[in-house]
Amino acid sequence: MPEGDSVWRAAHQLHGALAGQKLTASDFRVPRFATLNLRGWTVGEVVPRGKHLLMRLVGPGDERLTIHSHLKMEGSWQVYPPGGRWRKPGFTARCVLRTPVADAVGFSLGLLEVIKTSEEDKAVGYLGPDLLGPDWDPEEAERRMASAPDVPIGVALLDQRNLAGIGNIYRCEACFLSGIHPASPVSAVADLPALFADAKQLLEANLGPGRRTTVLNARGTPVGRAAGRPGYWVYRREHQPCLRCRTPIRHGVLGRAAPRRPVSHGASPAPISTSGGQGVSAPGTGMLAAGTGMLAAGTAELVTEERDIYFCPKCQPLLGAGDA
Ligand SMILES: [Zn+2]
Repeated sequence: MPEGDSVWRAAHQLHGALAGQKLTASDFRVPRFATLNLRGWTVGEVVPRGKHLLMRLVGPGDERLTIHSHLKMEGSWQVYPPGGRWRKPGFTARCVLRTPVADAVGFSLGLLEVIKTSEEDKAVGYLGPDLLGPDWDPEEAERRMASAPDVPIGVALLDQRNLAGIGNIYRCEACFLSGIHPASPVSAVADLPALFADAKQLLEANLGPGRRTTVLNARGTPVGRAAGRPGYWVYRREHQPCLRCRTPIRHGVLGRAAPRRPVSHGASPAPISTSGGQGVSAPGTGMLAAGTGMLAAGTAELVTEERDIYFCPKCQPLLGAGDA
């Protein structure tokens, strides 16, 4: 699953290569659009929307269409010189766009459709505020997330209806930086805007070239991977020592296997206190609660394949376990 920064970079690369260019050929290798020919259409702009990519085109008669794609698990867009040799197998190409100055090829796209630009909202209007977008609105993201208070925060962060742009890496890393166990319910997170700010900073620090890293210095500049240091605080670092406290990082699974447990409405939320400057802790800490996040139907890009979580059991105590 891509992170928002990957899509942002892809959109900016495509925009830089294609904006203002007239298509000399188009080839949609999906049945629904196999006969669509956009030769003569001009690429207006390419913009990211969360993890979605919108390529807006203007037709010869000023018609407006948008090529809407989502990279899902394996997808990518690549730009080549005209007629350049592809770096991926041809049979994985789903969309080929040729212009006089560059070719763009979408490989293994998880979603590809061509829609009227005026109807983009039908495709992406459900998305929450975009962490990397001009419309970023932490209050709106908080309002959306707080409407389902018993969903694990690690699930809520991936739900693109709450806020758009976070994949599994930033989900795990932002929870670590905020000292929050990803299985803690949304209602137990004292400061959602601070958590969003952590995720936003990590995404923004990775918009440039180079390998992704979440280990930043005080100025927000990436320092990970230098001098052999890990690129991530916890992601895929199971059994390795926490970079802050040396406790072995743990791997867990956060899913929706079991029905939602009854919620106790009688008890007020557990008191939250700051402990040792490392985050928040509360009584009632228990085992990782798998299956506490039952999700609504129709959430196509939700978390069924994003179950792995990584966390430091000391820096990220589980909050609000209730009847544990
Ligand atoms: Zn730790």
